[in-house]
Amino acid sequence: MTFQESGLDSRLLQAIVELGYENPTPIQEQTLAKLLTEQTDVVGLAQTGTGKTAAFGLPMLHIIDSEEKTIQGLVLSPTRELGVQISKDLEKFGKHMRGLKVVAVYGGSSIDKQIKDIRAGANIVVATPGRLVDLIERRAIDLSNVKIAVLDEADEMLNMGFKEDLDFILDKTPKTKNTWLFSATMPQEVARISKNYMNSPLELSAGKKNEGADTIEHKYYVVQARNRYLALKRVVDHNPDIFGIIFCRTRAETQEVADNLIKDGYSADALHGDLSQSQRDFVMKRFRSRTLQMLVATDVAARGIDVNDITHVINYNLPEETENYTHRSGRTGRAGKKGVSIAIVTSRDAGRIKDIERIINKKFTKQEVPNGKDVCERQLLHLVTKLHTAAVNEKEIEEFLPKAMAELADLSKEELIKRIVAEEFNRFLAYYQNSPDLNDGKGDGGNSRTTRFFLNLGEMDGLNRNSLKDLLMEVAGVEARMLFNIEVKNSFAFFETETALNDKFLSQNNEEVYFNDRKLSFEVSQKKQREGGSYGGGNRSERFSGGKSGGYSGGGYKGGSSDRGGYKGGYKGDRGGKSEGGSGFAGRKKYSDGGSSFAGKKSYEKSDRSESTSTSSKFSY
Ligand code: AMP
Repeated sequence: MTFQESGLDSRLLQAIVELGYENPTPIQEQTLAKLLTEQTDVVGLAQTGTGKTAAFGLPMLHIIDSEEKTIQGLVLSPTRELGVQISKDLEKFGKHMRGLKVVAVYGGSSIDKQIKDIRAGANIVVATPGRLVDLIERRAIDLSNVKIAVLDEADEMLNMGFKEDLDFILDKTPKTKNTWLFSATMPQEVARISKNYMNSPLELSAGKKNEGADTIEHKYYVVQARNRYLALKRVVDHNPDIFGIIFCRTRAETQEVADNLIKDGYSADALHGDLSQSQRDFVMKRFRSRTLQMLVATDVAARGIDVNDITHVINYNLPEETENYTHRSGRTGRAGKKGVSIAIVTSRDAGRIKDIERIINKKFTKQEVPNGKDVCERQLLHLVTKLHTAAVNEKEIEEFLPKAMAELADLSKEELIKRIVAEEFNRFLAYYQNSPDLNDGKGDGGNSRTTRFFLNLGEMDGLNRNSLKDLLMEVAGVEARMLFNIEVKNSFAFFETETALNDKFLSQNNEEVYFNDRKLSFEVSQKKQREGGSYGGGNRSERFSGGKSGGYSGGGYKGGSSDRGGYKGGYKGDRGGKSEGGSGFAGRKKYSDGGSSFAGKKSYEKSDRSESTSTSSKFSY
């Protein structure tokens, strides 16, 4: 059936053509076939992305009389975001209907203004349940002419505790109205509503019961809980073009994951209920405009988000309610596009994958967490493609080109390509060298690959975490990201590093290396290493994206955090450490003018045993 064949009002048909909709989606075919002519209740199984807004919106607009100034259509939505979305869609569909007025009402916004808008002659009201109850109690809304009440994302409204509000509202609407209920899943509570408030409803489905869309691929990775974040980063690094939502269980976890990603240089931000409405709006605006690549969200906050072209949904944890997986994964693979839904699970909850498979009637594929080489390969390919398609602004660079051209004139095209690729690839490899296998059951996620060192210097030598780090970088010629879990005590200190680098420190014991007249002595610490500590946050060995030139940091967070007092600058630590510290002791000249982070005026000496003390190098900071 085409839209034209459905018998839809010509003003709506015109709008549909203008919107570029060619054919009805399956759920639209079903509603258009029935609801234009039959007065019936409906229970529709459909998630967002299936075109369900038009599936109920078009018939509703077809039925109401836009020139009659009464509320004839009522739509209930779980969140403000979805409500606003729906009202905008209805306005678009009904743009050629004279006098049509759609009003969205929701909490957190001036109720007086909303009352005024309703009184100005609303034909359709889209409401969140709590605010509508408020309006009813204030006698500020007349629902006695409602012909159609839509409950959108009914399962979610119940999840959010709107059960009593829904009962209250439905009781206040005329018995003669029709109720159209849409839900992505069909838990018992939804079935109860349909039983209590509907007369032999027409059952429609955009797919099988609770089933996920066909266009979504489902994958999972099994890791140890402490490696969850690292696995997330691997997955993200392995998909440089990701535009995705990362779902967490709690607000705190959401904020933590977002903070860590931001710190590590990714383009990400958090969306959860602890943020004010304006903060949430701000984050959503940036996500919609793709200034943000990743939205880290709780289930509730992300409900109803209608953003097209989401490439990946990542379940940082599986949802507590197994059925919520359908909601989460439904954010991708919309309008026929392909999408990937990923779950990062521990061996303990891997069994739940089976439950989800049963619910969505789809199989998951178990995937190996990409290793360093896989990531490097992907990043390299990404770089090559980017180079190939880069937009060149001739005007802006023309001034600098001659110099660059002259400098590179002796290189053939092949040589040049080789160098660009080598330059980038070496850097990727450096970031990922020694990267542990994160797959559970293989390797141990990296703990035994790190060593904890004891050093005989501490606060009494004027050192703090940062100055000790600088000193270690200089002495052993290692990068900042190779040093973690630094603890400075009064007369000694501990730090961790990659085991592969042990010799760089131990060999110093044979050299005459002094800091302020104290000879440095490194020992492998016997103290039990903290469970997961070495990779828990201090280890930057995988802070890969932060260092990428032209990486995510560009799309950055800078503007976003000011109102929250959060992170302001981009993450630059590793990059700096690499390009400067990478030269190690040999790079001391550079260090003396750049590395001024030492606490006081300390001198650091290193003398080569083969030479007399007089030739020892001595630097002041
Ligand atoms: P929804 O499930 O209502 O959130 O719609 C998902 C997306 O599909 C929205 O961006 C709609 O604009 C789009 N859409 C809805 N119906 C159609 C259609 N028949 N043809 C093309 N796109 C559609």
